[in-house]
Amino acid sequence: MSAEDKYVPLEIVPTEDEARLRIRWKDGVASEFVPRQLRLLCPCAGCVDEMTGVRTLLPEYVDESVYPMAIHYVGQYALQFVWSDGHSAGLYTFAYLREMSDSALEGEGAG
Ligand SMILES: [Zn+2]
Repeated sequence: MSAEDKYVPLEIVPTEDEARLRIRWKDGVASEFVPRQLRLLCPCAGCVDEMTGVRTLLPEYVDESVYPMAIHYVGQYALQFVWSDGHSAGLYTFAYLREMSDSALEGEGAG
C-alpha cells in the first residue's frame, strides 16, 4: 500500500438510505458526503472567484434536495458531478474530496 492509495477511490455509491454518497478509498477509509455539501463545495470558476479564492456560490441558492444525476471520472484524478440543478462545471479532484472528508472527520473529533 502506498501513500497514493489515500487518493484512489475504489467505488462511489449511495448509502443504504440514499441520503449520502459513500466513497470507499483504496487505503480502506470510507468517506460519506451529503450531496448538497458537495454541491456547495463546487470548486469551479462559477462558484469560487479565481482571483481571490472567495466562494461566490451562496448556500441559499442551492436547493436542499440537490443530488447528482451522474458522476463521471475525469482522467485518473477527478470526478465530475452532474447536479440536478443543471450545474456540472466543477471538477472535484480525488485529493480535494479526500481532504474535505478528512477535515470533516477532524471537526467531529474536536467537539
Ligand atoms: Zn461550480
